[in-house]
Amino acid sequence: MKDSQARTIYLKDYQAPDYLVDHTDLSFELDPHATLVKSRLKIRRNPAVAQANETLPPLWLDGVDLELLSVSVNGELLPVQRYEQRAGGLSVSIDTPEFELEVETRIAPEANTSLEGLYLSNGMYCTQCEAEGFRKITFYPDRPDVMSVFTTTIIAPATYPVLLSNGNKLDSGITEDGRLSVTWEDPFAKPSYLFALVAGDLQHVEDSFTTCSGREVKLQLFTEARNIGKCAHAMTSLKHSMRWDEEVYGREYDLDIFMIVAVDHFNMGAMENKGLNIFNSACVLASPETATDAAFQRIESIVAHEYFHNWSGNRVTCRDWFQLSLKEGFTVFRDAEFSADMNSRAVKRIEDVTLLRTSQFAEDAGPMSHPVRPDSYMEISNFYTLTVYEKGAEVVRMIHTIMGPEAFRRGSDLYFDRHDGCAVTCEDFVAAMEDANGADLKQFRRWYSQAGTPVLDVEDGYDEALGEYSLTIRQQTPETPGQKDKLPLHIPVTIGLLAEDGRPLPLDASGQTEAVLHLTEASQTFTFSGIASRPLPSLLRGFSAPVKLRYDYSSAQLQFLMQHDTDSFNRWDACQRLSLNSLQSLQQQYRAGEALQQPTALIEGYAAVLDDETLDPALVAKMLALPSAQELAEQGGEIDAAAIIVARTFARDAIAAALAERFLSRYRALEQHKPYSPTAEDIAERSLKNTCLSYLCAAGSAEALALAKVQFERGENMTDAAAALAALVEFGTEAQAEEFLEAFYQQWQQDTQVVETWFGLQSGSAKYGTLERVQKLIAHPAFEVKNPNKVRAVIAGYTMRNFTQFHREDGTGYIFLADQVIALDKLNPQIAARLVTPLTRWKKYRAQESAQIHAALQKISDSGELSRDLYEVVSKSLEQD
Ligand SMILES: [Zn+2]
Repeated sequence: MKDSQARTIYLKDYQAPDYLVDHTDLSFELDPHATLVKSRLKIRRNPAVAQANETLPPLWLDGVDLELLSVSVNGELLPVQRYEQRAGGLSVSIDTPEFELEVETRIAPEANTSLEGLYLSNGMYCTQCEAEGFRKITFYPDRPDVMSVFTTTIIAPATYPVLLSNGNKLDSGITEDGRLSVTWEDPFAKPSYLFALVAGDLQHVEDSFTTCSGREVKLQLFTEARNIGKCAHAMTSLKHSMRWDEEVYGREYDLDIFMIVAVDHFNMGAMENKGLNIFNSACVLASPETATDAAFQRIESIVAHEYFHNWSGNRVTCRDWFQLSLKEGFTVFRDAEFSADMNSRAVKRIEDVTLLRTSQFAEDAGPMSHPVRPDSYMEISNFYTLTVYEKGAEVVRMIHTIMGPEAFRRGSDLYFDRHDGCAVTCEDFVAAMEDANGADLKQFRRWYSQAGTPVLDVEDGYDEALGEYSLTIRQQTPETPGQKDKLPLHIPVTIGLLAEDGRPLPLDASGQTEAVLHLTEASQTFTFSGIASRPLPSLLRGFSAPVKLRYDYSSAQLQFLMQHDTDSFNRWDACQRLSLNSLQSLQQQYRAGEALQQPTALIEGYAAVLDDETLDPALVAKMLALPSAQELAEQGGEIDAAAIIVARTFARDAIAAALAERFLSRYRALEQHKPYSPTAEDIAERSLKNTCLSYLCAAGSAEALALAKVQFERGENMTDAAAALAALVEFGTEAQAEEFLEAFYQQWQQDTQVVETWFGLQSGSAKYGTLERVQKLIAHPAFEVKNPNKVRAVIAGYTMRNFTQFHREDGTGYIFLADQVIALDKLNPQIAARLVTPLTRWKKYRAQESAQIHAALQKISDSGELSRDLYEVVSKSLEQD
């Protein structure tokens, strides 16, 4: 396998920058094929590393895919022998510790399909600089610990009336040749990764926010004219976020203006550039007719996430990219708490934990396994992972659990005060938490450096004579690549004990019925006295730590917890355990060639949940959702795709048949026929209603399909229309599926986001989403290989969300993915490296599938020169040989 200069970068090699940039003055003359970029930098020797009477080191400027036009120092054009252009940048010899450097470069945004740096999306210029995209714009010390004040001038033809950059607008005018010119100034020093520029023919909606100190902030949301009616929800979410960050963290916004721009071609969800957030359209635009409840909630959380970065990321940033979780883990924790406050706390937690268990645990157990703070990388883009984001947020959450909310707030206040305007490390964050509270998190720090998902084994004992109940918890973290021996972690385990009648028992003299156990040793016993009869433990409440917990619950005990636990999350979790146990038994029966047994305990449990009218309907919907095939695959042991599919389908159909009447009566009771509103209550009712509809259609009666047809045709909102369409596609005849899909496409073909939903419904369908269908979708005129959203909807929809069809026995699903990855790597390496993920798990499968998946990976490896992004993932995956 060939690669393009893949070399490993290590955290231990970190060195402070040789030079600092106090001021960056940029000017852009925009042109699709030849944009002229002039930069004027005020640079000085970094006093922290300077020595007396030293010879000055050369100045290193990162730069990729740039045409260098000229280099000047203090106004003098530099002779070519004073600088050298090498792979990845420019080295300039320096003879004075303080100077002004001018560099002129030319770039071609039109040809930039990587969507990093400056590029075009539907004729609009936009930028994406995190992590290392700024070096595709101009030569610069492109590292987060170089923070500079920026002034940016944008010059463009009048066909681009809106010209935006970070900070406040300083000046605007018209050049002699009739082009528009606008200058922006950002007074807050920032690293280059937070730079942004947008130019286009855009409309905007405007609002304002009065901060806690009474300052008026202008809020603007920019998009193409056709989408201007889809901005209201994001604007409301922004205002809620601004208020919440003042109330919960004491953080006030700092500029006079805050702008959001929606862009169709975007690799990630959104980007927190100072004062000018750039969003993937799918993560900001919504209307009831076109967006589902899930999209509404996603938008609220992403708007909040990017806004919260203004403090956790921008004002206090990362020293180097190994510290990425410093800003991401903390900000994901902040946005999760915000969403929990705005919606159902238990449901938000369930969704986050499901993602963690399904995908982050898989990452922890795979070839790319890494700690929350990685030790090394080849391509940093590959480390924008669930481990850094989601597990990183769990680590911050555990600090919150260990210290309590008030101490946590004291810690975050100290962190922001102490490091405002600085580029710091995860260690600085933990130290602030300790220093503000006189606490000791020495052992806790191992969560940042140790990879892998810890496993907790719990055993209990009861001494009737003494009235003592004890819990013995053992912890162990499996070996991961490069980390053989693991040390015990400090794990907070929140628990409660239930009496035989379901009452919560007091755990100590104070009468508390919930406690946080601090597990710090490999094995530890916790004893509770004054317990009159043997209790049932409710363990790891609220998922207080990102671990796998094993305790031998019987089906009856799980059903008891489902009904009586005071912790809503654990009620759901008991239901999950019951489902997993049933599905595992079914898989065993299938593998042993036995007839599959009715999952009686599971059906009883689901019936009780459906009958309990006091439960939040959103929680009921979550409890009634069988674990996904992907989640079943992560339960340990060899993955047998066929057994998973058979077991899951059998259980679903058995539940659907046994509880059909209950599903129908709940469905009828939940029909709303009222104007759409994305409130937690209405979303909860729709989610349960559509869960019922899906089971009703799975049972296959003509009446059920007729209900789905009515709901689809009524089309009161996208949530209901899409859910009905999904049920019709999955459970109707092929002719029906064709008919309804065509009707839907005819209605919505002008709307990019609905077309993405339409693609996803087909590619992700276990029945309809065959490889042949997916190949047809790729040839569809609405598919665009250069648009990551479309690639995700069609290709990832099939390879990551359609377990049944992707794992077809002939292995052609794997080869299809390999071919797509090879083609995409030439256009967009970041997307190619993400897409390849399902193939990295080859070692976990049964012999036949394992060999097929390995062959597909090998095909990629043999295909010629790979990007650094893809090379890193493929080579590490093949190394497991
Ligand atoms: Zn972020």
